[in-house]
Amino acid sequence: MTTSTTVLGLGAMGSALARAALDAGRPTVVWNRSPHRAQALGGRGAVVAGNVEEAVAGDGVIVVCLFDHQSVHSVLDPVAAGLSGRTVINLTTTTPNESRELAAWAAKRGIVYLDGAIMAVPQMIGGPGSAILYSGSVTAFEQHRPLLDRWGVSSFFGPDAGMASLYDMAMLTGMYAMFAGFLHGAAMVGAAGVAATEFAELQVPFLAAMTGQLAGFAATVDAKDYAGEGQQSLQFTETALAALLRATAEQGVAVEVLQPVHDIVQRQITAGFGDHGTARIFEELKGA
Ligand code: NDP
Repeated sequence: MTTSTTVLGLGAMGSALARAALDAGRPTVVWNRSPHRAQALGGRGAVVAGNVEEAVAGDGVIVVCLFDHQSVHSVLDPVAAGLSGRTVINLTTTTPNESRELAAWAAKRGIVYLDGAIMAVPQMIGGPGSAILYSGSVTAFEQHRPLLDRWGVSSFFGPDAGMASLYDMAMLTGMYAMFAGFLHGAAMVGAAGVAATEFAELQVPFLAAMTGQLAGFAATVDAKDYAGEGQQSLQFTETALAALLRATAEQGVAVEVLQPVHDIVQRQITAGFGDHGTARIFEELKGA
């Protein structure tokens, strides 16, 4: 027999998760702070709970998809005493340490905790390209695989509950830096009257081709082989970045996106590594 799934939080993402559970034929209980957001799911067969106590009254898995770390506590703290022995899968975006705090909070109360980081937008849930990273309780991950796999490709990153979030945030860092770089370039050509859409047609395949460099950078970083043959030197990169900054200024575009990249490279040159490869930026960023 399939026990019920409770979904707490029916924003765009929580609703998508609940819909996919219902589409899989799973008995689903839903709750949202603003009750109107539960109506459509009720129409699809979900049991709409009037409050959190009612939503968690059964014995099924509790899926949480709220706004942030604080809202998870706001919703779960008042009912925590009754959740001993239950499993909570938290898909709310939290930082690694916030996930670890929730895992410790859960452990203290005898709650089994699995943290998840969703690498998809709501429209992708249950369809191609949707992926969710998990860490925390391996037992919960294995036991609930049929549900998790309904939402997307499920990957497990070990018992440290913060790891899924860490991977998520590291990947989003790369994404946002790329977005900002694209918009910087669009502003440069935009100052010459070129439409951003026209620019995108050139930039997209170029960036896609450049991602081919990442595995090489990664191998260099892991081997700490910055002095190895065939790498683009920091000195070369600094000259290129300085030219890009001059061109940026000539177009009247703000330098905030690019200037820090230049400055990081310059610091490594000042430290005596000008002839080392550009992947050495990693050493400047990683801290002590
Ligand atoms: P929404 O803004 O659509 O929904 C937020 C939800 O949180 C609503 O159900 C809202 O309730 C609830 N909420 C906020 N504060 C509280 C509170 N103090 N107490 C109770 N409920 C509260 O966000 P999403 O559904 O898009 O996102 C939910 C989570 O999923 C976030 O952590 C987000 O980062 C993550 N996520 C979202 C993605 C996306 O593309 N949307 C992608 C990957 C992750 P109410 O309706 O009453 O306001």
